[in-house]
Amino acid sequence: MQYVSTRGHVKPKGFIDTVLMGLADDGGLMIPEQTPVVSSEQLQAWASLSYEQLFLEIFSLYINDEIPKDELRAMVARSYSSFRNKEVTPLKKVHDSLYILELFHGPTFAFKDVALQFMGEFYSYVSKKQGEIIHILGATSGDTGAAAIQGVRGKEGIKICILHPHQRVSKIQELQMTTVQDDNVLNLAVKGNFDDCQKIIKDLFFDLKFKGKHHLRAINSINFVRILAQTVYYFYAYLQVNQGNDKPQLINFSVPSGNFGNVFSGYLAKKMGLPVNKLIIATNENNILERFVRTGEYKPGDFRSTHSPSMDIQVASNFERYLYYLLNEDAEKVSAYMEQLKSEGKIVITGEDLLKVQSEFVALGATNQQCLDLIAKYKSEHDYLLDPHTACGIAAYEHAHMDGEVTVALATAHPAKFDEAIILCEIEQEFPEEIAKLLDQPQFQTVVELDEAEIVRQLIDFYQ
Ligand SMILES: *Cc1c(COP(=O)(O)O)cnc(C)c1O
Repeated sequence: MQYVSTRGHVKPKGFIDTVLMGLADDGGLMIPEQTPVVSSEQLQAWASLSYEQLFLEIFSLYINDEIPKDELRAMVARSYSSFRNKEVTPLKKVHDSLYILELFHGPTFAFKDVALQFMGEFYSYVSKKQGEIIHILGATSGDTGAAAIQGVRGKEGIKICILHPHQRVSKIQELQMTTVQDDNVLNLAVKGNFDDCQKIIKDLFFDLKFKGKHHLRAINSINFVRILAQTVYYFYAYLQVNQGNDKPQLINFSVPSGNFGNVFSGYLAKKMGLPVNKLIIATNENNILERFVRTGEYKPGDFRSTHSPSMDIQVASNFERYLYYLLNEDAEKVSAYMEQLKSEGKIVITGEDLLKVQSEFVALGATNQQCLDLIAKYKSEHDYLLDPHTACGIAAYEHAHMDGEVTVALATAHPAKFDEAIILCEIEQEFPEEIAKLLDQPQFQTVVELDEAEIVRQLIDFYQ
């Protein structure tokens, strides 16, 4: 399997080089040259596998034996040994037509751990095997940063710097990032919003001289390995729901979305042959994706701060991957659209293409009030405490669901991470011990202005 860029100007690369490249050198995103297809017989044969075994099967379709099997198995085992649940992503049945797939049992209590625990192992492997210096640089709306830091803290040969929007992440998110004391970790709190942070990162990665000189590596979901790791739980959930069913059922997935990474993983799983019915894109009041599905216009709007800060994103970086498939893998067209987005501030999809979008996705942007109402409702009716991101997913499920369908709603975070919203519902929750103990620890972070030159200075200092 080789990987190419959505903009068509990168020579095909193997798996390891693709992961190390992160953002494609031509400014696009890397994607597999062909999508491997899983037959229904093969899918059935996977029904009895553990999460880790399923991970290995799916990865083996993509990595060309670039990592020896035994080594990969050990990496996967280590990645998920830090999860508090043996099943890694357990599925809870709410009622006959709704399941919740809990993706928050990793070290930082959000779904980002599922991919980033593995990514930490991956970078560690490459650093050791190839003598590579690895300088991880990323922007976070809160959860990616915490998960990435946990994935690589204290690992030899790796340094990590994370930009987060100052005072715009939840208290627990901030503590998870800044209470880590290892020397290989630098937290920069930027006086701006997430899109500002992400833009700086994209600029630095696009400066190929800077990227090469400082060995910059990406952990954001522009990195294909994250997308791939996240496809595993779509397969896993499908197989769990259909366990023992003679006639396997098509399934809807409702996905709390920001950068379009998670839902793109679901799209990829479907492209690989997983019998998915609707992919439901749930957003909050930052509803660029909902507007896109409804009207075909993809246009960043005004930034809103909501109860679900990890989804406070207007520019969904993985959208370009979907655009590539929507436009029948025509890299020239993708490049033209992305140019247009840059120059005119929007893209408009019309006609047949828009119908295709609407046949592939349903979307809903939940308001702040809807989100809080649903947290209260599911607590009282089902004794299930939703976090505010998952609540957006449930709002979208309630909007899109039809009789006779089965929906798996992805729970992307544990409610303890977002107590600010839970308190507003007048619900008192007990914190898991791992979170409670963060509250009285010292914090390490550097607050910086929204100024690329200043951030570059901080980085160069850190790399010395
Ligand atoms: C990151 C995140 C999201 C959004 O996921 P994307 O892959 O960026 O679409 C949703 N919920 C939570 C809790 C997150 O941390």
